[in-house]
Amino acid sequence: MSHFAAVVGVPGDPILGLLDAYRADPNPAKLDLGVGVYKDASGLTPIPRAVKLAERRLVDGETTKTYIGGHGAPEFGERLQQLVLGADSTLLRDGLAGATQTPGGTGALRLAGEFIARNLPGRGIWLSDPTWPIHEPLFAACGLRVEHYPYVGADNRLDVDAMLDALQRVPAGDVVLLHACCHNPTGFDLAPRDWKRVLEVVKARELLPLLDFAYQGFGDGLVEDAWAVRLFAAELPELLITSSCSKNFGLYRERTGALLLRAESSAKLADVRSQLALLARGLWSTPPSHGAAVVAEILGDAELRALWSAELDDMRRRVANLRSGLVEALRPHGLTERFAHVAQQRGMFSYTGLTAAQVARLRDEFSVYLVGSGRASVAGMSEERLDYLAGAIARVCE
Ligand code: PMP
Repeated sequence: MSHFAAVVGVPGDPILGLLDAYRADPNPAKLDLGVGVYKDASGLTPIPRAVKLAERRLVDGETTKTYIGGHGAPEFGERLQQLVLGADSTLLRDGLAGATQTPGGTGALRLAGEFIARNLPGRGIWLSDPTWPIHEPLFAACGLRVEHYPYVGADNRLDVDAMLDALQRVPAGDVVLLHACCHNPTGFDLAPRDWKRVLEVVKARELLPLLDFAYQGFGDGLVEDAWAVRLFAAELPELLITSSCSKNFGLYRERTGALLLRAESSAKLADVRSQLALLARGLWSTPPSHGAAVVAEILGDAELRALWSAELDDMRRRVANLRSGLVEALRPHGLTERFAHVAQQRGMFSYTGLTAAQVARLRDEFSVYLVGSGRASVAGMSEERLDYLAGAIARVCE
């Protein structure tokens, strides 16, 4: 008997497939706007200097490799919560919030999904349409009912009214996932007045928000990007937040993140945390240590923190300049109006509004690689190549 005979293959990740095609393309003019990682002007995904310095200290100072606890390193959890909720957060002072260290933001989402599935039976989870492609299979794998609310319409504009209309009809108690900033894949973020409207619906319908916070510092700044998270944490008695250190600390492969939780009382916080520890035990036992130790070191040291924050500012400015630079480069082609949204969007990605057919032409005729949905990873552009890119876009838009 063959045990594996009935196992069928499934297609690989389409974005990684795109990367393979890009690598195999001999055209020296090729541009990779597919993969969602930050790149500097030389096309490298750099290790921030603050991270390197922290790592050196850790290598010298580390005395043991024994396990860290189920919730991870306490100093990581405390400092990350201060970064997310604010150093002066009354929730932290009053013991109403906690953090569980996870392997990346994905680990935090999985832990949240398992928690909801096991401890809040019958709840569905509502995702924006579109959303990060991993959200759906991840929550489905937890056994959750996965539903969608509209976010960006066919005209490639944020449709807040349609979103609110749908949320108003979500069954009471269901979970609604919101991208805290730098919406992936569209780059369209809610304005403060929109967030307030969403909050009102969340309160009225008694929904449980899960704020996915994977790009703190990539939108408008570390504090500015936390605005909605802090508003929700202040206004709601219960809340889940998944925080990722992959992008803002450049720690992608070190798998660093946390599930943050706000509860109504410190006794309830302890109950929920005990469930999270139990679930984490069955998922990854204890979290990886290195990336979290780096983050704790940086956030706990004024000098390293200042250096890191300046490096993050540089990354954010580079992406913002590429956005406005592309819109400018499209001016001679008469396309500034049509692509003005690219400069208004936030974060690593842009829903350009290019069709699948135009994306295919960009790839076949110009060796410009982006995802079929028209999502461009803005950091994959470079200042010197903007005219080439604008020219290619103009040709496929004729
Ligand atoms: N949420 C969103 C919206 C993301 O874009 C990402 C990263 N691409 C994550 C969560 C998780 O990131 P990681 O697991 O690498 O920390």
